[in-house]
Amino acid sequence: MTESVGIIGAGLVGCLAALAFAKRGYRVTLFDYRADPRDEATTDRNLRSINLAISSRGISSLEFVDDEVAKRALRDIIPMKGRMIHDSSGRQESQIYGLFGEAINSIDRGLLNNNLLDELDKYDGTNDINLMFDHKLVKIDFGEKQQECLFATTNYGMKTYDFDFVVGCDGAYSATRYQMQKQVRLNYAQEYIDCCYIELYIPPSPEYNSEFNGPFAIAPDHLHIWPRDEFMLIALPNADGSFTSTFFGSWALVESLVPSKNKVEEFLLANFPDAMELMGIENAVRSFMDHPKGALMCVECNPYHASGGRAIILGDAAHSMVPFYGQGMNCGFEDVKVLMKLLDKNKNRTEVFEQYSKQRHEDLVAIVTLAKNNYKEMSHDVTSKMFLMRKKLDGVLGKVLKGKWLPLYTMVSFRDDIAYHKAIEISRKQTAILKLLQAIIIVAISASGYKAFGYFSRLFKRLSALQ
Ligand code: FAD
Repeated sequence: MTESVGIIGAGLVGCLAALAFAKRGYRVTLFDYRADPRDEATTDRNLRSINLAISSRGISSLEFVDDEVAKRALRDIIPMKGRMIHDSSGRQESQIYGLFGEAINSIDRGLLNNNLLDELDKYDGTNDINLMFDHKLVKIDFGEKQQECLFATTNYGMKTYDFDFVVGCDGAYSATRYQMQKQVRLNYAQEYIDCCYIELYIPPSPEYNSEFNGPFAIAPDHLHIWPRDEFMLIALPNADGSFTSTFFGSWALVESLVPSKNKVEEFLLANFPDAMELMGIENAVRSFMDHPKGALMCVECNPYHASGGRAIILGDAAHSMVPFYGQGMNCGFEDVKVLMKLLDKNKNRTEVFEQYSKQRHEDLVAIVTLAKNNYKEMSHDVTSKMFLMRKKLDGVLGKVLKGKWLPLYTMVSFRDDIAYHKAIEISRKQTAILKLLQAIIIVAISASGYKAFGYFSRLFKRLSALQ
């Protein structure tokens, strides 16, 4: 008799988990409290970004689960090879992400979710995948053999389903996790950071022609950042020529501006004049005032499973992180890959879930921390001369010492074979070396003046151009 699994949450991670379990012969039922997002009548859009960045870990995990599905799901991605920094005077400076042309990719969140749901609908394995919308998990009674899940539905009242085990992919406010916490000694920490986000919109330029896929209002092959120390604006390209832009700033700042149209207008024009030209100041002010104000939080817990192989949590349910490394979904997809690799080696679910919690914890703590630290890099450091010099040096060493020296961003975003915690370890050592080299160069320049500066500039330029 094949085992049954109830997966809670048909978001990005839940869909991928459903496909991965189904392909291994499990009888899968996937629940979500939302209505089917593919129904035209569904206006319900949860408080999340319209597009997000998918990089190596996310892509390779999709491919690991199903190569063909990955190809179809990633059809409409837009590669972004670097950050475009917009300073207050409107000057733009490109900072390339990869050493050898690697890029992260902008993808429409809704489209990706819908594409994955379509794949589940047409899944044609030993057992079909059951999709159950409008089912809100409210309780799990964990048993020796069966897990009894109670759902609230709009049309059918309360409903109960039994499964051999449960997989919680129900996001940062996970009900599965809450139910597990009553049964398991599960450590749990939640932290709101003092940052609010508001989604804004840059329409396609008047000259945009879909037939030629251009011209875009700003470079489509970059993630745009307007860093202003205490707050910032970013923008990611969409396939229709538009950009989805997000403002990040403290709650106190937003609350001090929002009641007054004049204050918002003044603030936006003073800090992002070039972006306002692209958005149209009227639209930008209206969006800033009316659009939902999103909170950002980090969730950490340990372990991620209930004993006896009865339940496990993946994705944001296990490790919600702030979006500044663009890794939340990537990491959630990687959770699925890591778990499946363990299950492929060992059919004993109890052992596998235990092993997963042990193996994955260090990495999840690492990426949650990295994501938090990256806010400072995006909003402030990218304009600091010392930081940029170190970044240049980092890139030069990466090019010269091919494979033996990897900048942190490369290890996190372009490599799926270096665990997050390992990336931090390596980067700590490299940063110490970089700081030393930087100090030596600065001393040399101050001792020998312009000649040494010219020498290092030429050397950096030549080495940066290496392919
Ligand atoms: P979710 O997407 O939250 O899905 C959970 C699902 O569970 C939902 O469909 C919900 O309806 C359902 N659910 C919840 N409770 C219940 C219940 N009780 N019963 C039934 N169903 C339930 N990540 C990246 O990798 N790259 C990025 O560029 C990026 N940018 C981001 C930008 C912003 C502004 C934000 C906020 C996040 C960003 N992220 C990014 C993070 C990414 O959005 C999340 O990590 C990802 O959505 C997590 O997927 P998930 O499936 O685990 O959870």
